[in-house]
Amino acid sequence: MANWLVTVDFDDFELDKAFEALPVIYWKNSTTNKDKGLQLNDIVYVYVTKPISKVMYQFKVIGHAEKSEYPLAQKVFWKDTTQLDSIKGYAIFEKLNKVDKSTLSFEYFRQENLIPDAPIQGRRTDRDKASNDPIRIFLTHIFNEFKTENVNSDYPDEANLENSLFPEGAKKTVQVNRYERNPEARAKCIEIHGTRCKICEMSFAETYGTFAKDFIHVHHITSLSEISDSYEVNPETDLLPVCPNCHAMLHRQENGIPMKVDRLKLLFEVSKNSK
Ligand SMILES: [Zn+2]
Ligand SMILES: [Zn+2]
Repeated sequence: MANWLVTVDFDDFELDKAFEALPVIYWKNSTTNKDKGLQLNDIVYVYVTKPISKVMYQFKVIGHAEKSEYPLAQKVFWKDTTQLDSIKGYAIFEKLNKVDKSTLSFEYFRQENLIPDAPIQGRRTDRDKASNDPIRIFLTHIFNEFKTENVNSDYPDEANLENSLFPEGAKKTVQVNRYERNPEARAKCIEIHGTRCKICEMSFAETYGTFAKDFIHVHHITSLSEISDSYEVNPETDLLPVCPNCHAMLHRQENGIPMKVDRLKLLFEVSKNSK
């Protein structure tokens, strides 16, 4: 059994949506003599390129398929299916895990010298590599991070927090929570608004140092009543970076009324100025 790292650009292939919708994923297995291709029971990690720049998915190879066997259901997730024309065969992936951790980000890899100072592209495998090989060390780090995903997840409390506060709106709340955790929407929100809390102005980098610099929660502003089945999140107007303290307060009610961003900001300013 070997470990692999492959890359995907969400602008080419919407793996996030395919992961939710499909029972298995078909993946290019055009082999070169050098890498011998993806083999049964190999474990595959997927690195999502900019702006997310994180390893987020773990799969297991459970079979192979011919070019003609590529499922129609997966084609819809490609922006441009002509990319599939040159592919000769596929490996079939079973879904194992999806995580969102700062220890699996490009920033972290670079800080810890786990990769050279370059973009991550193409395919890497630890097959036949010595224990001190840089790629084996890198893939072992990724393997270990997936093993401990439940303990170290960056956003462990949001789901419980929200579900306990809105028991009757549970279904929609789970949906809203999903927007707040959606890596693509999160990345775009942070790209637009930065990582400073929009309520209290705190910055994790300023408070705790550079290791904390990409940490922030993302709050979904649109109210539950406005969420219909066709709703699409707009990262600029519907999402806001907030620290976990302010985030918790945004999900709290004031005399039975859901807290609004402007109201909380006002309360924060009033309280700060009265000190
Ligand atoms: Zn805050
Ligand atoms: Zn929120």
